[in-house]
Amino acid sequence: MDMNSRNSSAAIAAAVALSALTAMAAPAVRLGEAEVGFRMHLGVMKLTGLDISNDDMAELSVTTNGTTITGVWKGHPLFGDGFTATATFTEKDGGWEYAFGWTNLDGWKFFVETVSFPDLVVPRTDKSGVLYSRNHGMGMIRRPKWSDWGWEREPFVNEGMREFQFTALVDGEKGSWYVDARDPMARYKTSYAYCRIGMDDPHARIGIRSFVPMARERTVAGELPWKGLIRPFRGGWWEAAQIYRPWARGQAWAKAAEARRGTPGFGKLRDICFWAWNRGGCETVSRPLEKFAADSGVPCALHWDWWHRYAKDVGYPTYWPPYEGEKLFTETVARLKRNNCYTMVYVNGMSRDLDDPSWAADGERDAQYEHDGTIHGHHWNVHMRELHRLTTVCGEGRTFQRLVQDVISKLAGAGLDAVYLDQVSCAAAKPCWSPHHAHPKGDVVASLQGYHRYLQEARRQNPGLQLGSEEVSEAFLADFDVFISLFGTSYERCGLGAMPEFEAVPVWNALYHGLAAVFGTYLLIDGIPPWDERWPTERKWRPYQEKDWRKMFPDQFAVEFARTMAWGNQPTVHVMQMKHTTEPEFAEDYRFMVDAARFYRDRRDFLFDGELLAPGSLECATREVRFQRRGIYYKAGKYATVVQPALPTVFHNVWRAPDGRVAAILVNWTRESQPYRLDCPAGSAAGDIPARGFLEVPLKGGRP
Ligand SMILES: [Zn+2]
Repeated sequence: MDMNSRNSSAAIAAAVALSALTAMAAPAVRLGEAEVGFRMHLGVMKLTGLDISNDDMAELSVTTNGTTITGVWKGHPLFGDGFTATATFTEKDGGWEYAFGWTNLDGWKFFVETVSFPDLVVPRTDKSGVLYSRNHGMGMIRRPKWSDWGWEREPFVNEGMREFQFTALVDGEKGSWYVDARDPMARYKTSYAYCRIGMDDPHARIGIRSFVPMARERTVAGELPWKGLIRPFRGGWWEAAQIYRPWARGQAWAKAAEARRGTPGFGKLRDICFWAWNRGGCETVSRPLEKFAADSGVPCALHWDWWHRYAKDVGYPTYWPPYEGEKLFTETVARLKRNNCYTMVYVNGMSRDLDDPSWAADGERDAQYEHDGTIHGHHWNVHMRELHRLTTVCGEGRTFQRLVQDVISKLAGAGLDAVYLDQVSCAAAKPCWSPHHAHPKGDVVASLQGYHRYLQEARRQNPGLQLGSEEVSEAFLADFDVFISLFGTSYERCGLGAMPEFEAVPVWNALYHGLAAVFGTYLLIDGIPPWDERWPTERKWRPYQEKDWRKMFPDQFAVEFARTMAWGNQPTVHVMQMKHTTEPEFAEDYRFMVDAARFYRDRRDFLFDGELLAPGSLECATREVRFQRRGIYYKAGKYATVVQPALPTVFHNVWRAPDGRVAAILVNWTRESQPYRLDCPAGSAAGDIPARGFLEVPLKGGRP
């Protein structure tokens, strides 16, 4: 069957009208208090396409056979009487294991682009929150003002599901609901949540959306290439993580990372007790950290940005040679090593400069194409006078990969401990519509496999070299030894909101803690982001525009630093300068950093090797904290303030060490001692914690 685009548009209009007429039909399969349906997005190349759902189907029959419920939807006014969608739900682990597929979709020129299944309608209260994998960070909870949030408006879509493949409606008085996708490849997918607006309907809709390659055979018939679990439960983010954890720890990414944990090379990463994420020339980045290493006596690490030939986000993938020359660069790395400092340098593992002359030869061939047939370029470095748009490279981008591998090998030769490949973990392998690639259009699988191959090759080419990337992900857990994670620990500064609506939670650490090294915050000790002297000066802040940031945001540094420690990530500061290690103004903060690094060193059996247990509740004073938002590309004079109205003065988590001991680790970020009372399944404790101090509180333990 064939149709020109005019007819396609008519069909879209007809389908939209039709879905309005049939919206009340809503046949869905009932599972306890939940209803399950499906949604599919059908596209035409470069056109928006249309959405169909179980609401549009002519009939639903539900049968039960032993412990399995089968729902069969049949007949669609546009796509034929034969169009059938089938879902099965088999009782398992206190919930239902699902599977979904469709047949006889008479799709004309429409191709299935996305499948949203399960599409779950569950009871909610005004206190319910959506737990989701945000793609940057370790997990988030959003507790929206439900009356303002509806499905007639934008649903709340969470890109990626990279940290974990589940979402849940949590903390409701009516109980919580959990849904996952047990996809052994951890393909790119999204989760979403919304509700009916203005209808006083005490329900919310949550679901998982998957991307289906635009191949003809997938359109007529297809199935989700994984199963998953739907389950009601009691509790919040930690309890949701426990439902997912047994499956997650059995996957290839977790097993490979587990095996790596015992290798000698991994030991040097485990030993790191303090990171400085510094930017710029050799002396600027290295000397303050070497002083810190000497003062604290702990193994340290440098994450080194802006070492390369051109300014940040310019000329990629051209990095070599270092802008201060190979000799000084290599000598600095060697001296850092002698002074107990591990060094990792920045390279972007995924993006390419569309406006660099090097693009011309093969840039277009390698690029990831958007759905509309274009290549998207983002002009990150707005300080530069000329345009430098960075494009994303598809996993089939072999030329780009070889260029980056060449840089990695040069860096290994210069004595680096690790190379950081920016963006890959949090942003690679999204749907690609390139006409030049072998994979089907809209595919996410070939690109992901291409990235795995490229990273494994880089490992084989450089034995002993470790690799790092941006923000934790399941898909890349085995490919990277170390991850920076800052959108969770610095979520206020990164613009991801504040409580009570938004709360960052360490779900990742409840699943995978210790399988890779994780460090990172975006904290700035003096509130001033770094400036690359190679940038034109027009947009640089003038001295009179700077304010007394430390007075305006007196607790921000300590909160972000303390949160890193409480989550069990390796303590990190961003932009450590020599003045921070010597001047009296910074002495209190410097002591906090030194104390933290030593405390971390002495508690690595909990904070690196430990298992994150149920946190329970910690009673302590709360305090309003103001956060500055100001990034490196902000215009001079521009910043924002984010307020946490009532942040706990003591952060905590509960850990079990490999030898079975259980302890709560507490961090007080305030300048006064604080009383606390902890109640958790592993035990109870109460007392005082000193100002800017840390405590290990032993608990009787036992599995909660
Ligand atoms: Zn591609």
